[in-house]
Amino acid sequence: MFTRILQYNVFNGTLKELMNYIEKFNKVNIISGNPEVLYNGLNNPLLFNNFTGDNSIIIPDGVGTVVASKVVKNPVKEKIAGIELMEEIVKKCQRESKSIYLIGAKQEILDACVEKLQSKYTKLNISGSRNGYFDLNNCSDLIDDIKAKKPYALFIAMGSPRQDSFIIKNMDQLPCKIFMGVGGSFDVFSGKVKRAPAWMISLGLEWLYRVIKEPFRIKRLVSIPKFLLKVLKYKNE
Ligand code: UDP
Repeated sequence: MFTRILQYNVFNGTLKELMNYIEKFNKVNIISGNPEVLYNGLNNPLLFNNFTGDNSIIIPDGVGTVVASKVVKNPVKEKIAGIELMEEIVKKCQRESKSIYLIGAKQEILDACVEKLQSKYTKLNISGSRNGYFDLNNCSDLIDDIKAKKPYALFIAMGSPRQDSFIIKNMDQLPCKIFMGVGGSFDVFSGKVKRAPAWMISLGLEWLYRVIKEPFRIKRLVSIPKFLLKVLKYKNE
C-alpha cells in the first residue's frame, strides 16, 4: 500500500482505496507529498517527524513524486492531487452529514471559497472558517471555536511549512478526524486561480502551467530535480 521513497512511505493505492484507508484512523494528517514538500522535510526534523508519524499519510501529489516512485521500481497506481482528495472528502462530508472547517488564504478568497463550495454542495455543513493571516502562537479563539464546532475535517490552506506547523502544534488537542494542509486549494475553489487544463494535468505538466501563470513559483521548482537526484542516489537503500 506504500512506496518507500527516501525515508518516506508514500501511499500507492487509488483515490478510492485512500478514502477507505482513512476510515481506519482515529485522527489522521494527510500530507500532499510533492517533491518540494518532501525535500524540505528532509532538512527539517519537525516536518520530517510529522510526515513519518503513525498518524500521517503522504499522498503522491505531483508528477515528480510519481516519477520518484518509478525510479524506486514501485510505481504508485495514480497521482493523487491534494485538491482532488479534498473534494472527495467534502463530498463524503455532505453525504454523511459531517462538517468541515476551513482555515487559510486571504479573507476575500476564503469568503469566495466558502460561497462556491456551499453553492456546489448545497447540503454541506461548513461549520467555521478563518483567514490564514494570524499568529500561530496566539490563536486561542480559533482553537476554542474548532473545539466547540468539532468538525470532521479541517482543511488548512496556508502553504507549507506554515500549515504543517499549525497541524503539528494543534492536532492532539483538536477534536477532528481529518487534518489536511491544502496549500493554494482555496484560491482554486474561490475561482481566483484556475487549475491547468485537463490535457496538461494528464501529461504531468501542471507545474509548468502554474509557473506560467505565477512566475514567482519558478524558484520553487528547483526542489524537483534536487529531490529526484537524491532519490536516484539512494534508490537501493
Ligand atoms: N497563506 C496564508 N497565510 C500565510 C501565507 C499564505 O493563508 O501566512 C495562503 C495564501 O493566501 C494562499 C496559500 O496560503 O492562499 C498559498 O498556498 P501556495 O500556493 O503557496 O501553496 P501550494 O499549493 O504551492 O502548496
